[in-house]
Parts: sequence; C-alpha cells; structure tokens
Amino acid sequence: MTAGAGGAGGPVGPVGGTAAGGSGQSWVLSRVRPLGGDPVDVLLTDGVVAAWRPAGSTGPDSEGLPAGTTILAAEGLIMLPGLVDLHTHLREPGREDAETVESGTRAAALGGYTTVFAMANTNPVADTAGVVEQVWRLGLDAGHCDVRPVGAVTVGLAGERLAELGAMATSAAEVRVFSDDGHCVSDALLMRRALEYVKAFDGVIAQHAEEPRLTAGAQMNEGVVAARLGLPGWPAVAEEAIIARDALLAGHVDSRLHVCHVSTAGSVELIRWAKAKGWQVTAEVTPHHLLLTDDLISSYDPVYKVNPPLRTAADVAALRAGLADGTIDCVATDHAPHALEDKETEWAAARPGMLGLETALSVVMETMVIPGHLDWVGVADRMALAPARIGGLPRPAAEGWSSIAVGAPATVTLLDPSPWRVVEADTLASRSRNTPYAGRSLPGAIRATFLRGRPTVLDGKVV
Ligand SMILES: [Zn+2]
Repeated sequence: MTAGAGGAGGPVGPVGGTAAGGSGQSWVLSRVRPLGGDPVDVLLTDGVVAAWRPAGSTGPDSEGLPAGTTILAAEGLIMLPGLVDLHTHLREPGREDAETVESGTRAAALGGYTTVFAMANTNPVADTAGVVEQVWRLGLDAGHCDVRPVGAVTVGLAGERLAELGAMATSAAEVRVFSDDGHCVSDALLMRRALEYVKAFDGVIAQHAEEPRLTAGAQMNEGVVAARLGLPGWPAVAEEAIIARDALLAGHVDSRLHVCHVSTAGSVELIRWAKAKGWQVTAEVTPHHLLLTDDLISSYDPVYKVNPPLRTAADVAALRAGLADGTIDCVATDHAPHALEDKETEWAAARPGMLGLETALSVVMETMVIPGHLDWVGVADRMALAPARIGGLPRPAAEGWSSIAVGAPATVTLLDPSPWRVVEADTLASRSRNTPYAGRSLPGAIRATFLRGRPTVLDGKVV
C-alpha cells in the first residue's frame, strides 16, 4: 500500500457553483454514506442536518437549496458523528512547548474530533473554577473543536483533599468529568467522598487505576519481556485491584465511575462483572492498547513508554473483544504530547505518553473494523455517542445519531476509508512528535469535519 493513495472519492474541495447570494453556511454532502450505509445527499444548514435525499438528486443546479449552498463531492466518504475524546492532554497552561489548546484542538479536528475533554494535569492544575474557565475560553478562541475541561479530583492532584468540585461544576466550563489522571486517587475514603459529591450534578469520577505501591519504580508491563530486558515491572494487578475496589465503591454509593485507559484482560473481566451487578461503571480503551504490545520495548525506544504500559497480545485480544461487546464503552486517545527533551532520552528518564488524536480513527479501523469486530454504527457509538453520554454533553450533541436523523446537529466527520498512509511525525499538527506509529502504514483519512454546520477541516486541511 502506498501513502496517500487516492480514494474512491477524489478531491473533497467544493465543486460546482454555489447557489446565488447568501452567507455560504449551507452545505450539501453529495453521495456521502451515513454510518457506512448507502450513498445519499445530505443538506447541512443552520447548524443541523436539514434534509437528505437519494444520491444524485442534488446537483449543483438543484433548485430549492438555501442561498449560498456549497456542494461537496463526498462520493465514497463515510459520514460519522463528530468524534468525542474523553481523554486528551492539551498541556496548556504550563507546557505550551509540548502542546497548546490551539495546536491540540487543531490535531483533534484533523482526526475527526469535534469535542475533546482536556485533562487536569496542567500547571497550574485545573483544580479551581478559574483554571477550568481559562482552558474552556482558550478552546472557544481556537475554534477547532469544543473543549470540555476535566477538573481535578484532589487539590494539586496530591491525593490529600478534595478540590472545589462544585465550583468547577457551576463555572462557565460546566465541568462534569473529574480526574486526577496521571495519578490514581488511591485513598479509598477520598474516592468514596468524591463519588458521593459528584452525584449532586450527575458528574463522574474518571479514575487512573494504578495502585501506587505496586508500581513504584515500574518501567513497563510486568511479564516475560520485562524479565528478559531487566526492567522493573508494572503488574496487571495494580490496575485490577483499583478497578475492583472502585467498582465496589461506586456500587455502594450508587454513583458514576469511569475507568480510564483499561489495559489488561483481567480489567475487562472486572468491568463485565461490575456491569452485571448493575453498577454505574463505564470504561475506555486507548488506540495504542488495541494495537501495540510490550514486545516493541525490546528496542528500548522511549516512544513506546506509556502509562499504563503496553501489555501482551492476550491483553490486546481481550480489549478488542471487550470493546466489541460493549463491556468497554468507548475509545479515548490519552493523547499525551511531550517535548523532545522529555521523550527522546534514555528509557528510564523518558516521560510516559503517546500522541493519539490524529491517528485514533485509523487505528480503530485497523484493529476493529477491518477484522470485523465493529461496523461503522459501532464505531460511531464507541467514538462519539458513548463518550458524549459518559461526559455529560448536552443532549442534542449526544442524541439523534442512532440513524442519521433530520434535526440532528451538523457535527460530523467525513472519512475516506480507502487510502493507506504512512504516518510521518513531522507532518502532524501537534507541537510534539511522540507518535508510536511513525513509519507505519495506517488505513483511512479524514477529509472533512463539521462543527455545528461550520467546517473545521476541508480536503484534509484545517480551515
Ligand atoms: Zn492516565
């Protein structure tokens, strides 16, 4: 396969003329395939899906279109709801050399995302109404996608006392997801209190499940590869013990727990058990845990260092099965940009984390769609609808997409499924370069993204 091979659809620039006059805010997506179904012509106007008709019935000269309508040739393209990422690190404020809200959301739009939840481990930490409002405003200013700040659970991520959860929830940023991600809320009583507190505003605690005493000094997955390489191991039980404890707590207080970046087969079993109990437990898996294994660390290339670590092929198989059957609710990127000096160093000193926004849908295509584990309806659920629901997005953004309903928000992404492209780190929109896929060929390419009817990406480029 070659990079950037032309897809069935050809160029996705506007074609034909525009109807006379008007503001240019209406679009016809000509011959697009909603959720991978049969081609139709879809009209986007006033920020919503206004109409759809049999393919080919809407030519450039069609009458009855709003003034200023632009026809987009979308032959062969799959229309999905705009993707929602529950787990993005935007690094602003504090590490603008690694990423900014502007550069991170630019990467998000190019990856087909229309909402990202920005993790709280910035500097200063997003543990007050002031910081979450700052991040939210930076997102508005950038305009590439919606930014929903995640609030810290504990002050300074220190795990000692609860942050101002209520103040963040009632701020302009309307925080609903709280997480100390990067750190585990390891104190069981604090975790209980946090779960109880967020019930008042239907919030959710997103836990980075890592029992800290079991992972002190850990460098990679505990197992045969770690033994061979002589690196200290991060055992699966450190993740599973916290998931089991937190599921019990969530059930006990009848509150919402979300498990970040599930990485082991045992974790999938525990989440299946918690759901069978009827507890409000949801979970995410990252693209890299669906594709990569700890064998790669034989290279000692720190690009493969991540927390939780890459696991075994058996874990990867269990994660794919769990995502397919809905035990794992959604895909979240854990997009974690790092500056060169923090990443291109010796293994032990390198920061954990990988880029993910610009490659997530391609990795899901390779690991889930091509092998037949998920169809496009399933992808829409796992990458847009489920994360929107978990994150408490306003209802209009989360509904209307079980089919392509007229009246649904025109917040969509258009994927060309046919090309394979070689990932080149230097061409990514992120300010950082720590992609584990550099040099690897991945399927699919985002051609366009619309946010409430306004294009943020056209012809694969940021508008
Ligand atoms: Zn984490």
